[in-house]
Amino acid sequence: MRITALAGGVGGARFLNGLLHHLEAHGEVPEVTVIANTGDDITLYGLRVSPDVDTLLYTLGGAVSESQGWGRADDSQRVQGELAAYGAVPQWFTLGDLDLGTHIVRSQWLGQGQSLSEVTGRLAERWGLPGRGVRLLPMTDTPVETHVVISDDDGQRAVHFQEWWVRLRASVPAERFVVAGLDRAAAAPGVLDALRTADVILLPPSNPVVSIGIILGVPGVRDALRGSAAPVVGVSPLIAGAPVRGHADACLAALGLPSTTAAVAGLYADFLDGWLVDPADAGVRLERARVEVHAEPLLMTDVAAASRIAGAALELAARLSGPRSAG
Ligand code: GDP
Ligand code: CA
Repeated sequence: MRITALAGGVGGARFLNGLLHHLEAHGEVPEVTVIANTGDDITLYGLRVSPDVDTLLYTLGGAVSESQGWGRADDSQRVQGELAAYGAVPQWFTLGDLDLGTHIVRSQWLGQGQSLSEVTGRLAERWGLPGRGVRLLPMTDTPVETHVVISDDDGQRAVHFQEWWVRLRASVPAERFVVAGLDRAAAAPGVLDALRTADVILLPPSNPVVSIGIILGVPGVRDALRGSAAPVVGVSPLIAGAPVRGHADACLAALGLPSTTAAVAGLYADFLDGWLVDPADAGVRLERARVEVHAEPLLMTDVAAASRIAGAALELAARLSGPRSAG
């Protein structure tokens, strides 16, 4: 079964790790293509950092800091201390010493002219992703960066998404998101094919606006989802109206939307077939009646929980592919 998933960082990675465990436990050899958000990418100290790609690499590679959800386990910050001693900025973005190895080698390979897809493929090999049946693709090879328009004492301005998310902790309202480079970005090699040829398409509980929403903005991606014969099943990142972690509520507010699972499903209404919600949202009514809603506890407390949730998503997809292929 060919599975294609769109993913941001922590929510996406935890779900996908659960998916791999689920498939492995059922004796299935995973064939999973992951299309990763690169809108979070940022250049720091001359190094190209891809936060969501790195979270996917470390989580699926078994090296993530479980307590943080991102970064390497047992990392230290000696280099960052040195940078601070030089007065180098910014200081608000944490870069671990082991993590810096990834950014250095990514920057070196990009500097040699390799594409982000090629570089990501090489990084994924080190973390054993192909061996687990995973192909990790950046959504595009074109440098793309999400910026957030805010108004503060300095007036109205756009800041990099990471500055809004990490330094400001989304405390200043986002007026809108502007994704620099997205209009002229092309889907990375394999991305559109993976959507067209999938048996199942999954939307993990990633941020609907700044993770999944950015991937959907890559030219061709949304059309590929709309035209897909495979069932598209999503997992709600909100439980009882609240994001489990992060500031998805502040992102939805920027679009003028309430923080509800129905609002998130509404963002996918033109291609969504199945929607997993937490039992706390079991009574939810979606605008589009065609979407099959299934309730399942959605807190990914550990790998076993994430694996159970992934299994429920596949079960829902299997139920949906029957009548669809017959019709
Ligand atoms: P980021 O790039 O690291 O912010 O990660 P993602 O975009 O992939 O995922 C962020 C989203 O994951 C947030 O909106 C959270 O609400 C959601 N999330 C995190 N943990 C859980 C969980 O245990 N269950 C569910 N349903 N959603 C979660
Ligand atoms: Ca992210």
